[in-house]
Amino acid sequence: MRAVQYRTIGNEPEVVEVATPDPGPGQIRLRVTAAGLCHSDSFVMGLPEEQYVYGLPLTLGHEGAGLVDALGEGVTGVEVGEPVAVYGPWGCGLCHACTKGAENYCPRAAELGIAPPGLGAPGALAEYMIVDDVRHLVPLGDLDPVATVSLTDAGLTPYHAIVSSLGALPAGSTAVVIGAGGLGHVGIQILRAITGATVVALDVNEEKLSLAREVGAHHVLLSDTSAAGEIRALTGGVGAQVVFDFVGAPPTLETARKSVALDGVIQIVGIGGGLLPTGFFSTPMGASVRAPYWGTRSELMEVLDLARAGAIHVEVERYGLDQAPEAYRKLHDGTIRGRAVVVPGD
Ligand code: NAD
Ligand code: ZN
Ligand code: ZN
Repeated sequence: MRAVQYRTIGNEPEVVEVATPDPGPGQIRLRVTAAGLCHSDSFVMGLPEEQYVYGLPLTLGHEGAGLVDALGEGVTGVEVGEPVAVYGPWGCGLCHACTKGAENYCPRAAELGIAPPGLGAPGALAEYMIVDDVRHLVPLGDLDPVATVSLTDAGLTPYHAIVSSLGALPAGSTAVVIGAGGLGHVGIQILRAITGATVVALDVNEEKLSLAREVGAHHVLLSDTSAAGEIRALTGGVGAQVVFDFVGAPPTLETARKSVALDGVIQIVGIGGGLLPTGFFSTPMGASVRAPYWGTRSELMEVLDLARAGAIHVEVERYGLDQAPEAYRKLHDGTIRGRAVVVPGD
């Protein structure tokens, strides 16, 4: 089968021919119908050798959807041919966190050598992929896999961050979204769908700002050193109850720090290398700072239900498997509108 692999540190990913994997006991093989490209892949491929921990070669893709193609020994609960999405942050399945569905916070995954597909285990950017357990599959029903696949990360990650701040976002509140890319443009829609907040979106790119407005942002601002002052002005000096930073770089964290309200929340989702000093002499009184990771199994079901209800969607740029390196280049350059999705059948 064809697969998109990161093979050499510092090089571009390559489209290669590899053996089609067979599902072991308890595993499921999917014929991939769609796979999304995340900025985290760019981050991983930008790491120097001494910090790179994902194994080589690495079949990329941690947003996956497919049709159940073959069942390993003992697998029950899914039928061959069934359309499914893959829950990516695999955990041990047995600990307290996993039992609640919060496998994204499984404390045992690292010691057991369990890694998400595309971030250690072979990922979804291939004609076929192996899913380690049936609990990591969510039925898609009649949702279109190409339109839906990125909800497994670009939808689930903002949803998880927003749900944990829901109490701070009643009518009359303000939420700031920094970075209207893959995660941000879905985050804006989720905020509109499940909170009463006025949404202010920031980006450095005018086209992303018009996308932000199209998907529901009430206000859009260029992300520069004056943005925090403009957010203060829009909120009568109070600031934003919650700031979702989907960039996480030093300048955006500074905007977050300067624009969050007293007793507000900063959610650092982006992994742009910034650190935010938190304490009496930095952040406003009562403010809390959190760096959430991905989301829970039940939250993924809720995100898919929001899509089913027509409340959220992903703006998709569609590519064939052979075009994946080109799509990664565009992602790196910041010129993807919404999410790049690879369709192996194209
Ligand atoms: P993306 O490339 O699709 O979007 C990033 C957006 O940020 C772009 O629109 C870009 O123009 C904008 N941007 C860049 N610099 C900016 C600045 N200084 N101010 C405002 N906007 C700016 O990326 P994505 O796939 O949406 O991922 C966003 C971030 O979230 C990445 O750092 C990614 O690695 C991270 N991520 C984290 C998690 C998690 O679990 N915490 C999960 C997925 C992705
Ligand atoms: Zn991701
Ligand atoms: Zn666990």
